[in-house]
Amino acid sequence: MTMATQNSSTLDVGLIWRNSFAQLGRTFYTPLAPQPLPAPYWVSSSRALARELGLDQSWLASPELLEVVSGNRPLAGTQPLASVYSGHQFGQWAGQLGDGRAILLGETADGMEVQLKGSGLTPYSRMGDGRAVLRSSIREFLCSEAMQGLGIPTSRALCVTGSDAPIRRETIETAAVVTRVAPSFVRFGHFEHFSHRGQHVQLKALADYVIGRFYPACRSSDKFAGNAYAALLEAVSERTANMVAQWQAVGFCHGVMNTDNMSILGLTIDYGPFQFLDAYDPGHVCNHSDDQGRYAFNKQPNIAYWNLFCLGQALLPLIEEQELALAALESYKTVFPAALEKLMCAKLGLLDADGDKATDQSAGDRTLIEDILKLLAQDRVDYTIFWRRLSHSSAGTDVEPVRDLFVDRAAADAWLLHYSERLAHIPRGLVTDLMLRTNPKFVLRNHLGELAIQAAKLKDFSQVNTLLMLLESPFEEHPGFEEYASFPPDWAQSISISCSS
Ligand code: AMP
Ligand code: MG
Repeated sequence: MTMATQNSSTLDVGLIWRNSFAQLGRTFYTPLAPQPLPAPYWVSSSRALARELGLDQSWLASPELLEVVSGNRPLAGTQPLASVYSGHQFGQWAGQLGDGRAILLGETADGMEVQLKGSGLTPYSRMGDGRAVLRSSIREFLCSEAMQGLGIPTSRALCVTGSDAPIRRETIETAAVVTRVAPSFVRFGHFEHFSHRGQHVQLKALADYVIGRFYPACRSSDKFAGNAYAALLEAVSERTANMVAQWQAVGFCHGVMNTDNMSILGLTIDYGPFQFLDAYDPGHVCNHSDDQGRYAFNKQPNIAYWNLFCLGQALLPLIEEQELALAALESYKTVFPAALEKLMCAKLGLLDADGDKATDQSAGDRTLIEDILKLLAQDRVDYTIFWRRLSHSSAGTDVEPVRDLFVDRAAADAWLLHYSERLAHIPRGLVTDLMLRTNPKFVLRNHLGELAIQAAKLKDFSQVNTLLMLLESPFEEHPGFEEYASFPPDWAQSISISCSS
């Protein structure tokens, strides 16, 4: 078969496709095929996700699917489109944005949407080129699957393909496409878009669509005087609160929490200048374009609330009463701290076998958590290594590897004493088991991503695949891969990651 006939024919991978988003109507999107990516090659793919999608493994790494996920060949039964949204960027209303470099192919029969990111110009590309570079695509691919491995709500990534086509950023780089998967890519910004324009028919259609597909309980909720849209706002607030609590517990900094990057399903989406903390610095800013530090690690919980407030404002024409909208947002203020406290208690091994917390000890546990975070910050202790070493130490009395992490040994000793007293009445096996399931050994540190990217630029994808394997099961020991769990090298601090990708 020649390339030309291959390109013009659709490929059937045995999945049944729908596109329920497309049913919303043309004001929501532009039907559009992806732009071809010249001479694509495979970079990496997730077998785990392929299995979940029901995609036959033989397709992965096949030349036929390579053409499809690079945008060169249509997929049978799909209805590709780019959606329109708006949003607040860095605290300012930014007006219309939209899928500037992403094409939604469609939705599998199981309701998973498949998107190509970096697949060329769309009507919403504005000043951009519609492309993504290899570096950022590998980061998004690995981090999506890493978050999944950590149990944190996220969009997924099926594969990355690359091309030698040059892409201009700060320097000349090469192009790549990530195939992303999520039940929905609807963002807060989709609601802001129609609300801001006074298009209340579309706003209602969108809210009804999201409720119908993802939040059906909002229809029958008797809270908020039976107002389904207020119930939706509350449900989104709760999911967002739980997601951000998980970010804070694991030390994940998103980097660009603009409202157009906030998922209506409370999923982590749009991986850009994200970073897992190395040394614990609560005020860490991972995005070099973020001069004001708006999206610093410790500001994420408040920013999420600010973003929810924007969503609440966007939904106000449907909720109608401001009091109801404010009441719906209130849930964030209780759900977030409760979720974070529970996660931090789990990190300390302080939950019982049912995953519940002994409430009578709450005040003491809060002090224990506050004290250790203060100490970690004061001594800039490596966040992931601390928790993993502590997990291993709880099984016995060997706390030396933990003490070694601190400059202020006396303070560390005092805290460790309090901690061991707290653990006295909990079976040690239970504690260790919980901690080793809660505190990952492997996270996608910037320097690990960077090393894999440097090799990938030379067409060696083995490090990307090794990282994928480790990050898919980050709580396992993976003997022989200690270097991936050790301290970052000094040069890690000089890695500069901005919005440009
Ligand atoms: P982001 O900061 O990646 O979430 O992007 C913000 C907005 O800019 C979204 O509407 C993107 O689709 C758009 N965008 C980012 N990079 C590009 C690009 N290279 N080409 C076209 N649009 C882009
Ligand atoms: Mg975005």
